[in-house]
Amino acid sequence: MAWDFETDPEYQEILDWADEFVREEVEPLDLVWPHQQFVPLDGERRRAVDPLKEQVRRRGLWATHLGPELGGQGFGQLKLALLNEILGRSQWAPIIFGCQAPDTGNAEIIAHYGTEDQKQRYLRPLLDGELFSCYSMTEPHAGADPTLFTTRAVRDGDDWVITGRKFFSSNAATAAFLIVMVVTNPDVSPYQGMSMFLVPTDTPGVNIVRNIGLYGEHAGEGSHALIHYDNVRVPAEALLGGEGQAFAIAQTRLGGGRIHHAMRTIGLSRKALDMMCERALSRQTQGSRLSDKQFVQGYIADSYAQLLQFRLMVLYTAWEIDKYNDYKRVRKDIAAVKVVMPTVLHDIAWRAMQVHGALGVTNEMPFLGMVTGAAVMGLADGPTEVHKMTVAKQVLRDHQPSADTWPTEWIPRKREAAQAKYAQYLENEVGNL
Ligand SMILES: Cc1cc2nc3c(=O)[nH]c(=O)nc-3n(C[C@H](O)[C@H](O)[C@H](O)COP(=O)(O)OP(=O)(O)OC[C@H]3O[C@@H](n4cnc5c(N)ncnc54)[C@H](O)[C@@H]3O)c2cc1C
Repeated sequence: MAWDFETDPEYQEILDWADEFVREEVEPLDLVWPHQQFVPLDGERRRAVDPLKEQVRRRGLWATHLGPELGGQGFGQLKLALLNEILGRSQWAPIIFGCQAPDTGNAEIIAHYGTEDQKQRYLRPLLDGELFSCYSMTEPHAGADPTLFTTRAVRDGDDWVITGRKFFSSNAATAAFLIVMVVTNPDVSPYQGMSMFLVPTDTPGVNIVRNIGLYGEHAGEGSHALIHYDNVRVPAEALLGGEGQAFAIAQTRLGGGRIHHAMRTIGLSRKALDMMCERALSRQTQGSRLSDKQFVQGYIADSYAQLLQFRLMVLYTAWEIDKYNDYKRVRKDIAAVKVVMPTVLHDIAWRAMQVHGALGVTNEMPFLGMVTGAAVMGLADGPTEVHKMTVAKQVLRDHQPSADTWPTEWIPRKREAAQAKYAQYLENEVGNL
């Protein structure tokens, strides 16, 4: 009987350390340098941040998302999930632990598909936390359907020349390189005709037109770039994996990325629930505490149950990834986790905000940021609708249409069959009357 919901005491100790470290040392960075985590370190920030990274390294918790064969610690997804739910409390924590999106997914595909030279040039410094990367796939006219992408790379001697536009390329402004998905052969199906390239951000022709911000961010503060690739010339060695492999590579990348977001979302949702409970116990109105009101108890119970369901789902999916070592095989459950994730964060953050009254909607509390974050989760890495379709298609694969007009579970036919099966006893029953 192998089902087991316990954490090894040894690993629990490590998690306890990480929990205290994140609360005491890392969460304050979110307040001192908010939204600065993807800005390359300058003198002041480096002095504060490097010693924290060093502590994480000494504990063996640096870059735990990759296996040892790929240059990481080889924790596996289940152990990573337990760690990531702690890191999810803080914007800076993934950076301090060397496992921030989108760099984790980008590192994963370079590790899987990169040449030795590409690993030396990009993966090593990425794993060392010395540079940032950007995944440049979505285009202004098409996101959810990658078969519509038109950015082209054309072969010219030993080089490729890239031309086109990409939208919402997160962190491009501070990234050292971009992973760009382009059409290399328009004459075959997009599934065979697209490829990925590793492009240093300072290559001539990479033109960051503007950095788009999310709601609430001031103009110019955003980190999602509209990029024009104007005849960007890269050598043949810039191709990642083989020509025409972009879809296979994208699947590897997004599978890991989605489940890691979900792990961190557990931590953020739990933070909102903790805040809701504290407020419910602290605030008095109309003769009793908020925690005595049935409406508020309902918020707390619903939130707790939603979080528990989601957590078990994420941990189970992480366990499946470790077991099968194949994102494709676990695709249905990764997509299901992606579908559920925005709703869980949204609902819990919204209730926590409501329980805090007016204070809840101010910029002195983090709830509206969480609610916006939930909306983002319903789009980034693909919209919820598309993931629902993936889940449904995978579920339907395990089912068959009924053999005739009537459903297999149609009671009259089943009853008739059951009566035939137990006919001898039914006859006795009649005989005993
Ligand atoms: C914060 C953030 C960060 C991002 N970072 C990156 C990044 O780093 N790199 C990158 O390349 N992209 C990034 N993206 C882009 C993201 O991947 C796309 O937004 C997403 O794939 C949806 O594409 P779209 O925005 O063009 O929406 P569209 O494709 O235009 O879809 C719009 C809406 O139509 C509906 N819809 C779409 N398809 C279907 C369907 N098949 N069935 C039913 N309804 C459907 C959905 O409601 C969907 O939200 C980011 C997005 C956000 C919000």
